[in-house]
Amino acid sequence: MKPANSVLSSYGTTVFEVMSRLAQEHGSINLGQGFPDGNGPDDVVTAASAYLHDGINQYPSMMGIPELREAVATHAKRFYDLDFDWPGEIMITSGGTEALASALFGLIEPGDEVVLIEPLYDCYLPIVRRAGGVPKLVRLEPPSWRLPRQALTDAFSDNTKLILFNSPMNPCAKVFTRDELEFIAALALKHDAYVVCDEVYEHLAFDGRPHIPMITLPGMRDLAVRVQSAGKIFSLTGWKIGMVSAAPELLTPIAKAHQFLTFTTPPNLQAAVAYGLGKDDAYFDALNGDMRARRDRLGAGLADIGFDVIPCEGTYFITTDFRPLGFNGTDEEFCRHITIEAGVTAVPVSAFYQGGGIDHFARFAFCKEDASLIEALRRLKAHFGS
Ligand code: PMP
Ligand code: GLN
Repeated sequence: MKPANSVLSSYGTTVFEVMSRLAQEHGSINLGQGFPDGNGPDDVVTAASAYLHDGINQYPSMMGIPELREAVATHAKRFYDLDFDWPGEIMITSGGTEALASALFGLIEPGDEVVLIEPLYDCYLPIVRRAGGVPKLVRLEPPSWRLPRQALTDAFSDNTKLILFNSPMNPCAKVFTRDELEFIAALALKHDAYVVCDEVYEHLAFDGRPHIPMITLPGMRDLAVRVQSAGKIFSLTGWKIGMVSAAPELLTPIAKAHQFLTFTTPPNLQAAVAYGLGKDDAYFDALNGDMRARRDRLGAGLADIGFDVIPCEGTYFITTDFRPLGFNGTDEEFCRHITIEAGVTAVPVSAFYQGGGIDHFARFAFCKEDASLIEALRRLKAHFGS
């Protein structure tokens, strides 16, 4: 047999799938993969079901249904005072993942340099490499996750086509400050590079920290690409409705990739998301408040058991250093160990890094029912005997 594509063949199965399968096999509580328990807001699900029966079931427009594209523009105005001309600047995709893939395939020419900030969400590097991009990695490290400004400056060159990063950031739960975003924007402007910002956790920046879309910064309106996911806004991760917002000159090549990847996305779900984006402030406040309360519950419980819990500013995730528990193996060994022996699953943070060096941190997802969090903490406490 002739070999398959070498870039993609070089990757194994993604850590989320591996750990979820292991969790299932051992009947453990899955705090590994980041998906919320429950079934999302009732009214949004009911709207989807009604649209399914009302017959919105054929190919919608390639760019997304007008109602949703307009709702995305209205949402951007409402939360960030952003003005988008939706017919030319907003496109709907099959999840944030396809939004990212379309942006990267649409913009990268083989040989272009692409700056990425570790820890990396799993799909970034494979897509960049498959698009022919040459990755330039800059590393944030626990526990401070501080932006290494000199390394970032050095990673840029006049061959830099774009920087791709994520705020609020999975897995390290960092919310980039305005000052950090301005620093990135200045580098992008200096080198005439695009900025693809994965903002899927935009409504999950906690404790009053603002989420600042990159595209709102001076000079970024024509250089930044904003990526969103309805999965995170409505706790319906299986829906895979993503959104891309960018200036027309950027959205046009991104749409070229989308038209050959998926072309469209289920129209009934799009219509339900359009309805959902119009929900009142109480919904968005409750989403944030509930998730913050879960963060507090899980964080306090893990600290009580003896983990070093790194402060979490946003997302679904808490990173912990497990060495104080006396476990001397790697993070992969730790995550397998607690899955099999304690009945609780987490994800090794080393999976988000290239080239090693970070091997004693585990990521726990707190986007779960209180009962699951309480039982997971009980099991871990019983196991580690504190
Ligand atoms: N980016 C980040 C940082 C994520 O954590 C996720 C996943 N959940 C995605 C993108 C993908 O979003 P979607 O499920 O909408 O494809
Ligand atoms: N974003 C989720 C996480 O980080 C997982 C999504 C997936 O499994 N691809 O856990």
